[in-house]
Amino acid sequence: MIDLEAIRHNVRRLAAVASPAQVMAVVKADAYGHGAVPVARAALSAGANWLGTAHITEALALRAAGIEAPLLAWLHTPESNFAAAVAAGIDIGCSGWELERIVAAAREQERPARVHLKVDTGLGRNGATLDAWDGLVGEAMEYQDQGLLRVVGVFSHLAVADEPERPETDEQLDAFREALAIAQDAGVDPEVRHLANTPATLSRPDTHFDLVRVGLGLYGLSPFEGQSSAELGLQPAMTVRTVVSHCKDVPAGQGVSYGLNYRTGNTSTLGLIPLGYADGVPRIATGGPVRVAGVNYPVVGRIAMDQMVIDLGRLNVSAGGPSVLGAEAILFGNGDDGGPTAEDWARAAGTNNYEIVTRISPRVPRRYINEVPASDGSRP
Ligand SMILES: *Cc1c(COP(=O)(O)O)cnc(C)c1O
Repeated sequence: MIDLEAIRHNVRRLAAVASPAQVMAVVKADAYGHGAVPVARAALSAGANWLGTAHITEALALRAAGIEAPLLAWLHTPESNFAAAVAAGIDIGCSGWELERIVAAAREQERPARVHLKVDTGLGRNGATLDAWDGLVGEAMEYQDQGLLRVVGVFSHLAVADEPERPETDEQLDAFREALAIAQDAGVDPEVRHLANTPATLSRPDTHFDLVRVGLGLYGLSPFEGQSSAELGLQPAMTVRTVVSHCKDVPAGQGVSYGLNYRTGNTSTLGLIPLGYADGVPRIATGGPVRVAGVNYPVVGRIAMDQMVIDLGRLNVSAGGPSVLGAEAILFGNGDDGGPTAEDWARAAGTNNYEIVTRISPRVPRRYINEVPASDGSRP
């Protein structure tokens, strides 16, 4: 279940923090598992000005859904369809090698490409090194003078903004300023200079420039260890829920799931939860919480492809005790009332909250609530 009012709330919150910088809603990876098209529409309706994806294919899908907002895709291979991007008016991130192909696409489409030049200020992934930056900027400006492209943006990406005490963000900021000065000297006059991701948007106003690119915060999740969504004024948008699909009494010593790694200590009642690693629940995350009837139970035994088990203690279902068959089972949600969170599952799986929401698989149906804002603008 995806709460689009939570998405809109988070956009308004992030836009207020970022102001006067604009907001790019990062909806790559199917909006971190939340659904790219509905999230993009909700984000735009709440004041996001831009959309961002990793792949051109992801951006094309948004255009095919009728979304016309400025849209940047930044991760390409030599097999990427730059011509389709130019034809669809998709802005293209360029680290260097793409430039010739982007220009060829612009010639073919008889339409100037919109390019954001990317500089590597320290992350060591995409982006031109500072050594190559001068050359890239010079070439891009020659093509701009020929009318083949327009340098719309200059950008970079941060490595450790989620750990605000580390010094490398300052070093990256210095390098970004240097790259901007080089670009300006070469005549680049970008509409948008952008560097900040969610953690930098929340903790480093000096990284905001003209535009912030927010992903995680849009979904209401905290990028900081030891700081909750609520403390940041954000609302988690995704709830993963199902219902208990079997409930039965078992004797003491009953083994549970493949490997029989767990055995009941006493006569006990097991609840079967019909979600497993094919649904995106990490197989390694035994111990992760499932909330049933107001109690968070840890998953016991191995998580299988389709299912996992909780030990409910002794309910004595066979003697007329309360069965939880059909009861709602929540893996994670907005954390209200002590409910489990994506962070709890991240801890159980040894990963971060980004991965927990993003890996929820297409087999889990996405149901959207609050698709239309309440008429008085308040939360229903
Ligand atoms: C994914 C991504 C973002 C968003 O990062 P969050 O930490 O989720 O806000 C921003 N910029 C780039 C280049 C990205 O790849």
